[in-house]
Amino acid sequence: MSAQGQTQAKGRRKYKVVILGDGGVGKSALVIQFVCHRFLEYHDPTIEDSYEQQCRIDDEPAHLDILDTAGQTEFTAMREQYMRNGEGFILCFSLTDRRSFEELITYKHLINRVRAGEEMPLIVVGNKCDLEQKRQVKYEEGLTLARQVGAGTYYETSAYLRKCVDEVFHEIVREIKAKEKEKLQ
Ligand code: GDP
Ligand code: MG
Repeated sequence: MSAQGQTQAKGRRKYKVVILGDGGVGKSALVIQFVCHRFLEYHDPTIEDSYEQQCRIDDEPAHLDILDTAGQTEFTAMREQYMRNGEGFILCFSLTDRRSFEELITYKHLINRVRAGEEMPLIVVGNKCDLEQKRQVKYEEGLTLARQVGAGTYYETSAYLRKCVDEVFHEIVREIKAKEKEKLQ
């Protein structure tokens, strides 16, 4: 294949990203900020939907296929299917909701269960950093959790302010690419 052909093929390849975490932490707000550049005050928490977005990451075209999940931890056939298809996972909690932070490990266990312990590209996100006065989780705690679950990176984000939103989605693609490279070696 020519160099140009390869670039085009890369452009068409979809990176399948799944965002997981408790209801109300801002998963939909993050995805919609990333894709549509606007902040949603309300989004039906029971809606599970996928979004496509094309962008440039490190000067290469990338096509993301993002699944915004509805935040339950029960195991259903559909959930198992998307956990099986996902190439990279964003584990999201709210910095203003300690329970959502403590629950995050449950989502990591779900991934482990479906992927039989395979090391998956993973990022931990503490969202709502604009609400500093309501903060219930310290930066260091988030970082420690990220290390504990084997995440490559920890980000504090604000879907409201669009803070670190692109960074999260770009970084998960980088991690998926890095894993792919490793496999080829
Ligand atoms: P999901 O259930 O995880 O998809 O959460 P949503 O995206 O529906 O967000 C739940 C609520 O938190 C909504 O009222 C959002 O407007 C709000 N929200 C989401 N992200 C942020 C954020 O970064 N800052 C603030 N202040 N509110 C947010
Ligand atoms: Mg939602």
